[in-house]
Amino acid sequence: MSNSNFDTYQLSHELLKAIRLLNFNSPTQVQEQVIPAVLSQKDIIIKSQTGSGKTAAFAIPICELVDWEQNKPQALVLTPTRELAVQAREDLFNIGRFKRLKVAAIYGKYSFQVQEKVLRQKTHVVVGTPGRLIDHLERGTLDPSHIRYLVIDEADEMLNMGFIEQIEAIIPRLPLERVTLLLSATMPQDIDVLCHNIMKDPLRVEIEEQNPATDRIAQERYHVNESDKIQLLEDLTRVENPDSCMIFCNTKQTVDEVYAELVKQNYSCEKLHGGMEQRDRLSVMQDFRHGLFRYLVATDVAARGLDIEDITLVINYDIPYDKESYIHRIGRTGRVNKLGKALTFVTENDVKFLNDIQDYIGKEIILKERPKAKTVLEAKQEFITKINTLPEIKESKGAQLSAEIMKIHVNAGKKTKMRPVDIVGTLCNIPGITAVDIGVINVLDVSTFFEILNNKGELVLQELQNTPIKGRLRKVSKADRQF
Ligand code: AMP
Repeated sequence: MSNSNFDTYQLSHELLKAIRLLNFNSPTQVQEQVIPAVLSQKDIIIKSQTGSGKTAAFAIPICELVDWEQNKPQALVLTPTRELAVQAREDLFNIGRFKRLKVAAIYGKYSFQVQEKVLRQKTHVVVGTPGRLIDHLERGTLDPSHIRYLVIDEADEMLNMGFIEQIEAIIPRLPLERVTLLLSATMPQDIDVLCHNIMKDPLRVEIEEQNPATDRIAQERYHVNESDKIQLLEDLTRVENPDSCMIFCNTKQTVDEVYAELVKQNYSCEKLHGGMEQRDRLSVMQDFRHGLFRYLVATDVAARGLDIEDITLVINYDIPYDKESYIHRIGRTGRVNKLGKALTFVTENDVKFLNDIQDYIGKEIILKERPKAKTVLEAKQEFITKINTLPEIKESKGAQLSAEIMKIHVNAGKKTKMRPVDIVGTLCNIPGITAVDIGVINVLDVSTFFEILNNKGELVLQELQNTPIKGRLRKVSKADRQF
């Protein structure tokens, strides 16, 4: 963190308020370089790790610069995975909340029609994965004609996942007059070539990690036979007794097996892999982030870029075949300069992968003896006590921001010709309510959702019980869903 604060950038008070309620006291290093450059419309190549505050680095100036009046999308953010799309959408939504910005997340394995409806409404920023975005562009359901900002996030991961061609197919459809930002943890040559082709005289920002994950995280390994891994896992988790732990496996099948075994042993546990329904994946991630359970068994789907704080222990039940995956996996612990611990299981057949990883991180992963039966037994009671107590629930990032916002539902929508202006008109007639107290309004077919800001939700809710909207009294209630 630097000594300066966000007031030095000429940001609107709506943004400064959101930044304050998100508890961002001063800009991180990457934000200090990127925010002013984007505000002055520069193309930028950003080499920076996740955890550096890089999402807010582009989200803050983009939220500042987009024009609220314009109904068509003005910024497009490309991410390699659905989870990252959802996460970036949430960050942009939180930052743009008091400016009432609409941010859509568009990704595969989710209803095209629902997304089409969302895109038909006012949308300022679209975040999505390349494949589904191309579908929308091809079918004309995403209008790119007003895109002024393009962000390519986690570009090296896009390359690994074979998405570069898709990105190259998206770019010619966007206006030439635009600002382009590319973010990547590493800069392989293909990314450099891509940048050369799509950017104008880009600024290069490189943030060296000051205290890299590999130094911050205690790393140990255990030699084990394949058939003995489950027992070792149970022994080590009993001894370590972590508050929260991620267990990584290389295949969905192993995730299913390990998960089933831990459930049998009453672990507070969930699983995550690419074979699961999208909705389930997102809710598992959300619940883990909120600390509703302690153990998450996952494939690499969950390793990359996701911002989950305070994981105490990472276990590589299977050693990763790819050395970069090792860094991403262990990086789930020891976030933002905290200490963490990572244990890796190594079988006879894994020695080559172990050597690759050790060469890559430039040090040896310490070899440990498995815990003795007596030690495991001694740890048992404490372990059982912890497993039977609910974890501490963590506040979501936007919690403070949401505290003063109420979402309200009205049982009338487009089918009865309800329009945002009808809502605004009614609300502004309530004494004590002005336009600045009204947040995002979303008119659907038979319902309307809107936000009331500044702790005035209860007042509005009460008044609307007796105040007609568009000529009739409506059923008005507090909504618990996000929109
Ligand atoms: P990212 O690198 O985008 O994954 O961000 C890592 C974490 O840092 C996220 O939880 C952000 O909410 C948080 N963050 C971003 N900017 C700041 C800031 N200026 N001060 C404190 N936390 C921040």
